[in-house]
Amino acid sequence: MSTSTISDIYGSLVFNDKIMRERLPKDIYKAVHKTIQNGTHLEIDVANTVAATMKEWALEKGATHYTHWFQPMTGLTAEKHDSFISPTADGSVLLEFSGKELVKGEPDASSFPSGGLRATFEARGYTAWDPSSPAFIKDGTLYIPTAFCSYTGESLDKKTPLLRSMETLSEAATRLLHILGKTDVTRVDTTVGSEQEYFLIDKDLYTAREDLLLTGRTLIGASAPKGQEMEDHYFGVLKPKVSAFMHDLDEELWKLGIPAKTKHNEVAPSQHELAPVFETANIAVDHNQLTMEVMKKVADKHNFACLLHEKPFEGINGSGKHNNWSMVTSEGENLLDPGKTPEKNIQFLLFLMAIIKAIDEYADIMRVSVASAGNDHRLGANEAPPAIVSVYVGDALERVLESIENGEVDFKSSAATQMETGAHVLPHFRKDNTDRNRTSPFAFTGNKFEFRMPGSALSVANPNVVLNTAVAESLDQICEKLETFAPDNFELGTRKYIKELLSAHRRIVFNGNGYTDDWVQEAERRGLYNLKSLPDAMPSLIAPKNKELFMKHHVFTESEIESRYEIYLENYSKTICIEALTMIEMVKKDFTEGLFKYQASITDTALSKKQLVPGMACELETRILTRLDREAQEIGKGVEKLEKDLAETESITDSLEQAKAYHEKVLSDMDALRVHVDAAEAMIPENDLPYPTYSKLLFSLR
Ligand code: ADP
Ligand code: MG
Repeated sequence: MSTSTISDIYGSLVFNDKIMRERLPKDIYKAVHKTIQNGTHLEIDVANTVAATMKEWALEKGATHYTHWFQPMTGLTAEKHDSFISPTADGSVLLEFSGKELVKGEPDASSFPSGGLRATFEARGYTAWDPSSPAFIKDGTLYIPTAFCSYTGESLDKKTPLLRSMETLSEAATRLLHILGKTDVTRVDTTVGSEQEYFLIDKDLYTAREDLLLTGRTLIGASAPKGQEMEDHYFGVLKPKVSAFMHDLDEELWKLGIPAKTKHNEVAPSQHELAPVFETANIAVDHNQLTMEVMKKVADKHNFACLLHEKPFEGINGSGKHNNWSMVTSEGENLLDPGKTPEKNIQFLLFLMAIIKAIDEYADIMRVSVASAGNDHRLGANEAPPAIVSVYVGDALERVLESIENGEVDFKSSAATQMETGAHVLPHFRKDNTDRNRTSPFAFTGNKFEFRMPGSALSVANPNVVLNTAVAESLDQICEKLETFAPDNFELGTRKYIKELLSAHRRIVFNGNGYTDDWVQEAERRGLYNLKSLPDAMPSLIAPKNKELFMKHHVFTESEIESRYEIYLENYSKTICIEALTMIEMVKKDFTEGLFKYQASITDTALSKKQLVPGMACELETRILTRLDREAQEIGKGVEKLEKDLAETESITDSLEQAKAYHEKVLSDMDALRVHVDAAEAMIPENDLPYPTYSKLLFSLR
């Protein structure tokens, strides 16, 4: 594609700022802009004009329907399409779309998870336009990004708390900047770039496996003779079919104004990654949700299935989603850019300490924010950060922290020299100055932090909600302290305070290899959390200190937190229940079919040999049959145990106890059963199995 075509198609399906400026009357455009910038209320006549203009534009682009697009607690997106048509008495139609329809919708929301919220309040929910994320056209429908709430204003989605957390962070960061003399700053936005990993496999192979279809991951399957040990896939040459898919994907994303930037092969066979250019957090979150949808759609068109599960294959690297995060002021300054000038250093150090303090104090809910049944398989396996949250700052910053700790920054000399000393210890960073520690869950990478724990299927709304709120709290506390310093003591007081903050939260900083057992032990000595599974982590969500945090910053009400706690646990239990049922069915039917086929053919071989040469020993046949039979017996017992434990677990009424039982009993039964199924499967020829093996799934793409 030529460059002119790219700029022609980029954003061509988005009702963006440019289109609004061109098409809206000036005063209306200004009013909308003000709403977007400051979150102010939109008058109905303004909404009417915007709706009419949006409709005209959408019709020109061939749209026939519109939908309020929202992000309920399922972690997916939801939409209900209404057409623009409004029949008239004379049998013709008008095409209508009013301001009211733009601003507010009433989806029949009774079937979305609410964790008990709607039972106690109102049965219905409504969607409210989020003008800060632009409307767009997909498959002939005008999509309007919205927040989803109950009639009493309780949020039922992932967007509302994200917007609230961005507000509280903006206020706190602006407050600190004002204290530091940057009074021009009116707001601070959080920026997010989320790198998305995924697998592509042949669609026919995908549909031939019940486990992939129903659960997104393989529940049985012997390893292929080759895995990723040759390291021949990472950044490898793209296969032509994959390359064609990626081209198409980029184009579809660009049309939607999604700045897809980098694409490459990942570590595992058939695994790939897409990274966009960063954007304001809520737009980035919307765009990541859209990216996942478009990936699946384009994959289907290319006869692929796109797997977004965190661990589709045992023994092969899983997929994550790196959440790159920073803060940018209304003046365009990236607050995590260490910069060159000494004045900036103290500002940078304060923001850095605010983040280190936030992660240390709220590591437990950072862990909660990425908890899911799928991600539990990935965290702590050998390709992803452990379940322990720590902060990596890199060698250069580590030296800065050490010199602050050791008092090498001379706090006693005059203000002017202190500043120079500050400049001296804080080198000017280039991006590549931070060596890439891939094993850290939360790493400083030059001018942003990269949170690497989120799983590939996760909405990045939650991690950003927690991060924004926790950092806002640290910043508030820092501001309170700085406000007590007299002007002539400000510089010195602040530097001392930075040192205090550092020693209080030093334990969360870890620059070593996070994949080792040594670190697990060291982290325990340091008193850090190691919340291995979702049921381990989830009680933290409702711990008093965390409820207080969210409530103080108006990110969640108490009932919103409690309902989310219920939803996450329920979702976890349901996921494992479906997996267990699928596994039982697959083992009983598909696997057993393959086993019997192979056993029959060996028996036939042996029998006909004996017929031909009476008294023949048929040693190999006997050995194979005996081994298969041994595994078959274990498999029979394993299925029985799984069925029994599953039934018991399903009847537990307390949601936490139930989730624990799914983790401790059902999942471990599944693991134990799998060992025998895989051992038997490894002996059975591919042709006898009614489902494709790992070798085919992972290596058949050309
Ligand atoms: P890396 O090689 O460390 O992964 P990249 O430059 O490729 O670094 O960036 C990775 C992701 O980080 C991209 O999605 C990019 O847009 C995003 N990113 C870069 N700067 C920022 C920032 N200031 N805030 C948020 N995300 C950022
Ligand atoms: Mg990265």
